[in-house]
Amino acid sequence: MPDERLRDWIARHRRVFALTGAGCSTGSGIPDYRDDDGGWKRKPPVMIHAFRTSDAVYRRYWARAFAGWQRFTTATPNAAHRAFAAWESVGTLSQVVTQNVDGLHQRAGCRAVIDLHGRLDVVVCLGCGARTSREALQTSIAAENPLWVAQGVSAPDGDAEIADALIQSFNPPRCEACGGLLKPDVVFFGENVPAERYAEAREALASADALLVAGSSLMVYSGFRFVGLARDAGLPITIVNRGRTRADAVAELKIEEDIGTALTDALTVAKYGGGRL
Ligand SMILES: [Zn+2]
Repeated sequence: MPDERLRDWIARHRRVFALTGAGCSTGSGIPDYRDDDGGWKRKPPVMIHAFRTSDAVYRRYWARAFAGWQRFTTATPNAAHRAFAAWESVGTLSQVVTQNVDGLHQRAGCRAVIDLHGRLDVVVCLGCGARTSREALQTSIAAENPLWVAQGVSAPDGDAEIADALIQSFNPPRCEACGGLLKPDVVFFGENVPAERYAEAREALASADALLVAGSSLMVYSGFRFVGLARDAGLPITIVNRGRTRADAVAELKIEEDIGTALTDALTVAKYGGGRL
């Protein structure tokens, strides 16, 4: 039974700003870090300070990332991504700001997307700032670690536990130009969203008439602060998320459902049930 509350809410607004999180990509096989109470499901992600200063952390990060890349790149958009793209094409979804780093909104055909936390398919040098493609880096990592690859490492996901001995033998990548440390062009824990990117998202919110939070527990401040801005601007806020979020108390509507199912149903009912989008 489709939830008509979401359909009605969508039909009432003309310029919706959607903030999306991990819950949008779990249906594509990309795991969520948080449980239903917002706690860590597994080891917390790497902090930027440790990444920059500890050889062991740097090596472990890249060993796992290298092993998990193939699964990550074979993930394809799911019902949630397709629903957002369909909604955008109708014209009342004005902006998607995603906390995800997988690019799946764009692959589903969404155009107005801001990758708040960056993209995993781009690599940046912390020394000289050079940006390269992750795909190319994977090839050079493989070339630098022929025996490691020959051991047939396959990880269930990017966070897979890899035996310590195997990590010790891993040769992590360095910038070809300057020898500097390489980092995926994503915002690590302990880092800030680049100012211009934040400003762009904030500007989009300023011209919106409602905020939809989808598939995020809002435990990370960089996402949560958009709720504060929306609230200050008097925008109505709806949340579709399985599990508790940090903004439940300020939402006029909270739907505890998978975003792909909820949004697909809401749009379908709106299209065929006589509702006006
Ligand atoms: Zn460099």
